[in-house]
Amino acid sequence: MPESLRANLEVVRQTITTSAERANRDPGAVTLVAVTKTVSVERIREAIAEGLRLFGENRVQEALPKIDEIGPADVDWHLIGHLQTNKVKFIEGRFRMVQSVDRSGLVDALDPRLSSPVDVLVEVNVAEEPQKTGALPADLPAIARAVVAAARLRLRGLMTIAPMVSDPEQVRPIFRRLRSLRDETSQQLGMPLPELSMGMTDDYPIAVEEGATMLRLGRALFGSR
Ligand SMILES: *Cc1c(COP(=O)(O)O)cnc(C)c1O
Repeated sequence: MPESLRANLEVVRQTITTSAERANRDPGAVTLVAVTKTVSVERIREAIAEGLRLFGENRVQEALPKIDEIGPADVDWHLIGHLQTNKVKFIEGRFRMVQSVDRSGLVDALDPRLSSPVDVLVEVNVAEEPQKTGALPADLPAIARAVVAAARLRLRGLMTIAPMVSDPEQVRPIFRRLRSLRDETSQQLGMPLPELSMGMTDDYPIAVEEGATMLRLGRALFGSR
């Protein structure tokens, strides 16, 4: 369905522009990560034909055959879901960024398996939901320091998955909090942390208003899963 992808992309781009302008932001400062979990290689190729170049997968096991078939050459892949320590060996040469680093133990396991640099976001469980992945805000400083100390990991910012709510307005404080955690961490470390990965299909206009630099969109582009 290339037409529907094209139409969806048009709506997404228009929405990003409108939300960015409302917040006096440059729409060009917002990067789209097309989330391709459950999406076939064929449809990913259609997305590439539509100009998309950055894809997010949330499970290593599902991502491996897709990345190996499409290749890491023309497109960038980000891991956006929980990374188990026993899967760190699959990151090298496939994923340009791991958005879901949420514990120091993962830093210790991942870094020695890399021979070239990989960008990292620390995933923060801002709402402190018990069943959710992501670092608690209190643990963020130590994890961020561990990433910075690792030889091949480059800390670029923070990521969060907002709680499921009925009214997207309710997640605005979560996005604000992630941005202030980013500002605090940047100040503590004395380095810029440019990336804020926040906003999914149900809440991305608000994420753009609150400073998102990366949106992770699945259903908005590819339809319901
Ligand atoms: C599935 C997923 C998304 C995209 O969700 P949509 O609601 O389909 O936009 C974003 N981030 C993560 C971590 C995901 O697992």
